[in-house]
Amino acid sequence: MNLGFVCDHCLGRQFAKLLSGYSNDQRGEIVRRLLAMEYEAKPFKLDTSNFHGFTFRRKMKTRKPGICVVCKNLFEELPKFADQAAKILKKMDSKSFMVGVKMNDALAMAEESLWEKSGIAYCEPIKSELNRELGKLVEKKTGKIPDENRPEIIVLLDLQNKQIETLINPVYVYGEYRKLVRGIPQTKMKGHETVEDIIAKPLMKTTRASSHTMHACGREDRQAKCLAWRPFVLEINQPLKRRINLKIIEREINRGKMVKVRNLRYSSRKEIVEIKRKKVEKVYRLRVNFENPVRDIQRVGKIVGVVKQKTPRRLLKSKPDKLRHKKVKSIKWKKINTKIYEFEVRTESGLYINELVSGDKRRTKPSISEILENPGELKQFDVVKIFV
Ligand SMILES: [Zn+2]
Repeated sequence: MNLGFVCDHCLGRQFAKLLSGYSNDQRGEIVRRLLAMEYEAKPFKLDTSNFHGFTFRRKMKTRKPGICVVCKNLFEELPKFADQAAKILKKMDSKSFMVGVKMNDALAMAEESLWEKSGIAYCEPIKSELNRELGKLVEKKTGKIPDENRPEIIVLLDLQNKQIETLINPVYVYGEYRKLVRGIPQTKMKGHETVEDIIAKPLMKTTRASSHTMHACGREDRQAKCLAWRPFVLEINQPLKRRINLKIIEREINRGKMVKVRNLRYSSRKEIVEIKRKKVEKVYRLRVNFENPVRDIQRVGKIVGVVKQKTPRRLLKSKPDKLRHKKVKSIKWKKINTKIYEFEVRTESGLYINELVSGDKRRTKPSISEILENPGELKQFDVVKIFV
């Protein structure tokens, strides 16, 4: 029975757990020599009986090139793939990389069928050998460091299409911003410049990235200023350059009048989750116009406590109708004239301020309008403090 030729890599890999300190092709060669000796003298006890159907090069002198029935001599092609990867990696200023292998069906089946014949007692999967060997080559050619945990670039050997793909991990930049004008939305909005755009602009230019996403600690209304420093992480996708001077970027952003930033530093995906999960209390400054002259303004103190809010009518199209319980922690007021007041309200995160003023047709209870028995309209509001 002739099962075909098996290369040193694929032979040695079946004994990967037996001899440490060797690469699989070295192991393969050792097993091959053993088999050759066993063939002639039979004094060796290594159990290779399952391999007798395969063709091995018995003597080094008669080495004959064959096509491996398992990998089709894929290992001989690795230097070529490593060259392709190195060429791409050299264009980037990344320091670390990780190698991945996308298997193809034929190879997976060939490996399985080898296992059926040889057993799996000591073997290593071909995928991990490919990973390791390609990794070694790329490391040698580029001087970049393999990093399994937080690689800057993933080199993917796609065996289906026989090509190298590179996936560039995003760069994350943490910072805190203030928005000093009304009318600009926080994040993506068609036809509008956003806080995100203003912050991202110099970063995009420097990193030559493809896109960006802002993850901020809470949102502010387009019409609200944010006078408090709001934490955010900007995710910069597919950057060609990732080592940049954030101090220079900070200065560049702060040259603008509308948005200011501080404390820029590198961040991580993990910090995005933390920032998004954080429930922070805020202080808002509201200016409210009342229909009638206000009497007994001190009554407004009754708003402190739990406010029950059903989803605001203005948002019902996009959000499910839900009842929330949110706390108002404190309220202060300042009279501008008999009909206009300014309030400073400290609330739990997620309380709808517009509705806290208007009552939203009794969907928010209590409300400032209800308590003062005087319909009020929110004219402007700002975030003045964020308790991070
Ligand atoms: Zn092979």
